Amino acid sequence: MSNMNKAVVIGAGIAGLITARMLSEYYKEVYIVERDELPTAPANRQGTPQSFHPHRVLPRGHMILERYFPGYTNDLLDHGAHPSDAEEMVLVNQFGTLVNRPLINSASSSRALLEWVLRRRVQNIHNVHFLTNTEVIGLMSSEDRQTITGIYTKKRNENKQEGMLTADMVIDTAGRSSKVIKWLNSLGHTVPDPEVLKVSLGYSTQYYKIPPQADKEWRSVISEAQPAKGISTGMLLRIEDNIAGTLLFSAGGEHYPPTKPDEFQEELKNLNASEIAKIVSNLEPLQGPRGYRTPESIRQHFEKMENWPSGLLVLGDAFCNFDPIYGQGMTVAAIEAETIANCLEEQRRNSQPYFERHVLHRMQEAIDPAWWLSSIADLRWKGVEHIDATPIKGVSFAQKYIDLFTKKAMELGTNGNSKFYLTQFLMNSLVLPPSKFFNAEILTMILNDNGSPEEKQLRAELGVQDPKLFQQRIDELIPSFDAAFDERLKDVLMSFEQQ
Ligand SMILES: Cc1cc2nc3c(=O)[nH]c(=O)nc-3n(C[C@H](O)[C@H](O)[C@H](O)COP(=O)(O)OP(=O)(O)OC[C@H]3O[C@@H](n4cnc5c(N)ncnc54)[C@H](O)[C@@H]3O)c2cc1C
Repeated sequence: MSNMNKAVVIGAGIAGLITARMLSEYYKEVYIVERDELPTAPANRQGTPQSFHPHRVLPRGHMILERYFPGYTNDLLDHGAHPSDAEEMVLVNQFGTLVNRPLINSASSSRALLEWVLRRRVQNIHNVHFLTNTEVIGLMSSEDRQTITGIYTKKRNENKQEGMLTADMVIDTAGRSSKVIKWLNSLGHTVPDPEVLKVSLGYSTQYYKIPPQADKEWRSVISEAQPAKGISTGMLLRIEDNIAGTLLFSAGGEHYPPTKPDEFQEELKNLNASEIAKIVSNLEPLQGPRGYRTPESIRQHFEKMENWPSGLLVLGDAFCNFDPIYGQGMTVAAIEAETIANCLEEQRRNSQPYFERHVLHRMQEAIDPAWWLSSIADLRWKGVEHIDATPIKGVSFAQKYIDLFTKKAMELGTNGNSKFYLTQFLMNSLVLPPSKFFNAEILTMILNDNGSPEEKQLRAELGVQDPKLFQQRIDELIPSFDAAFDERLKDVLMSFEQQ
């Protein structure tokens, strides 16, 4: 690589923190530039309005966080987070109820505590420097505009002092409010239209104090949506300091979860899991309900730009943002940061031109399963629409396959065999490749469902009767995602298969 002296990360959200930690192994100096003044204790802040809502870390994200921040779970626990192994998790959907123990030992906390724990770790890295209260207002470039050479900044204090910071690499992790497209346009670059999922989603979250008597019987509950019947998703999750959060979610724009306390309580009663309303009636309301709405999930396709400038990368929500209900955002940011690390390693060994565009391609491959899985789930809601020149592959088949699989997994799980359900959970956690879930072996097993409506619908989508043709048909219908899973996950896969 040419010059690995200085990297600049725009934004100190979760993506920015993981990225700065990762870059500290490759660059002599890393600057993380954040427009907010960062709180000295865990607290929500203006630049991350989503922090109010519960944030789960999926197992794949947890694995990457442990790689970059070993022992971060203990830091969370030391600051009051709730140990995941101390509780049962109840999953309720249209097919039944399943009670599980969490698969990994992690800690549930607010997003503010997680961010603070990670930030403290990054603040202690000797070659990472924080510039706070500083807004990035543009990109510096070479005369031919083909190389980004740094950033322009403006202080957010009274005198609004402007400055600049040169860098060999600028990584934008400024989230959904990123201005990188505007900055690229002003340098004369045309950015391709992004892929858009018109999702019109709504969240509403309420927090409660858990009194000691309710603490003894505590269970987290996930109540899955039933979009065809307009039934919302509901979750009851715990964070630090004996605080619980309930959230309601729906998509499609026909109905948004209420933010008035009475209506919120009413909607809790209409979920698939009646248990949530029951547990909540024994808790003491604290904050909320507070809503969050967004019209679209957006996936940029910067890799399509032949003249993408060197010295610039984008990751996290600025690159691709997701429907938050599936808990993917922070995990995807971690996957992207790890992908950049892999590319930097390869570049060290064998330097190649057009490094940044290559990284953008690799990041797209890495996030493909997450985008596909959340899109096929969201497209179940009436009113949700995918807009791109290339349609999403296999939507209807995948939805029907998942329905029949879930029905089977709930049946088996209730009878003590939760491995079947685990396959689905690990795929949704971005640990198992979808090929471990969508394959002829599993298809043959689930189709044995005595002519149920779900079986008939799946057979109709499949279009072939001969089991010998099943794999070929699946390969035609479902994308392969082979490039998204690297060698490192092989050990996890092996241990899963040996269970
Ligand atoms: C309601 C909701 C619930 C969610 N729940 C989950 C969940 O359960 N699990 C999960 O994994 N993900 C969840 N997410 C997604 C998650 O919040 C993000 O995907 C994740 O935090 C990565 O975001 P980011 O770091 O890219 O951006 P952000 O977290 O938004 O951070 C961007 C940072 O950049 C700063 N910034 C912006 N512009 C500038 C500028 N010009 N100059 C300097 N600084 C700037 C901002 O102040 C901010 O600090 C949820 C999102 C929402 C909306």
